[in-house]
Formats: sequence, C-alpha cells, structure tokens
Amino acid sequence: MDSTPDLSRRRLLRGGAGTGLPVQALPWTVSWAQFTDRCSRCGDCVNACPEHIIVNADGGFPAIDFTRGACTFCGDCAMACAEPLFHPETTPPWHQHVVFEHACLAYQGVHCRSCEDGCEPAAIRFSPRLGGLAVPELNKDACNGCGGCVAVCPVSAIGMVKEEQA
Ligand code: SF4
Ligand code: SF4
Ligand code: SF4
Repeated sequence: MDSTPDLSRRRLLRGGAGTGLPVQALPWTVSWAQFTDRCSRCGDCVNACPEHIIVNADGGFPAIDFTRGACTFCGDCAMACAEPLFHPETTPPWHQHVVFEHACLAYQGVHCRSCEDGCEPAAIRFSPRLGGLAVPELNKDACNGCGGCVAVCPVSAIGMVKEEQA
C-alpha cells in the first residue's frame, strides 16, 4: 500500500513558482536539466496538447498541470516538438506514481471514491478498514502516472512521486 506517506522524504512533482520543487515534466522527455537547456520555449507542445494540460511553467518552459486533466499519452506533444527533447520510443513515458495524502476525505471519515472512478488503468482500490471508511490503495505496478486521479480529487489530496532510477 502507498498511502499517507511521510512526504518530506519523497520527491514530489508539484513544482512551479515559489515551491522550490521540480515541475512535472512532459512524457518521454530528457532530464529537466537537459530539457531547459535545449527547449526553445516555442509553445508548440502547449498548443498541440488536446487535453490542454501543458502550461508555461517557471521560465516559460512547458510543464504538465494535472489539475487540468490527465495525460492520455497521445504523443501529440512529442510530434509537435522540433527539438530532440522527446524519446517516444521509450517506455514507460515516465517513472512516477501517485500517493494519497492525509487530506484525503476517506481518511477524514467522509465517503469519496472519485479517484477510483477517475483511474482508467484501475490502479486504485478501496479496502475496508476496521472501524473506519475504506481508504484508497494504489497498485503501483498498474499506475502509469497519467494524473487522472489528481484532476478529480475534490480536496487536492493526491501527489505525484518520481521514482528514482537505478
Ligand atoms: S501525450 Fe498527449 S495528452 Fe499527454 S501531454 Fe502530450 S499532448 Fe498532452
Ligand atoms: S478522490 Fe481524493 S479525497 Fe476522494 S478518496 Fe480519492 S484521494 Fe481521497
Ligand atoms: S496516476 Fe493515473 S494510473 Fe495512476 S492512480 Fe492516478 S489515475 Fe490511476
């Protein structure tokens, strides 16, 4: 189970102005350092995304905002980019999964299963708890990091964690 973790020990992808945290990179992209080195900030990927989840983040570099919706992995951003920044031939598109934070309504005794409904790969399950409401549990292997659950959570209780690569 991957719920209510000590987030101070995790590397969250909730970056942006003033947060001091890394931003959510686009799928299949090179490292953020390489990306900011080579990206021309032309905005072609921003305009290409049919889900409208790519925004101009710090410094005008494109990043994903999962509060706007999920990535469908359509590949349009990669196709639109003229620079060698995307490697869509690599799988998976990114190494990340979600975590449920203490603000989750189910942990507060309020019925909610929005994230389960919003998860297309069915990576979220609710298991009964002794003396409490069922709370969300993640099947990390099934989570593709699409962000569909992040967008639908009514209290912004879902964070995205980057998996460190060996
Ligand atoms: S893969 Fe498609 S949905 Fe995902 S960020 Fe790129 S253009 Fe948007
Ligand atoms: S949608 Fe948010 S508040 Fe509702 S159960 Fe899932 S994590 Fe908790
Ligand atoms: S990030 Fe996507 S696959 Fe993972 S739990 Fe959320 S909706 Fe499901």
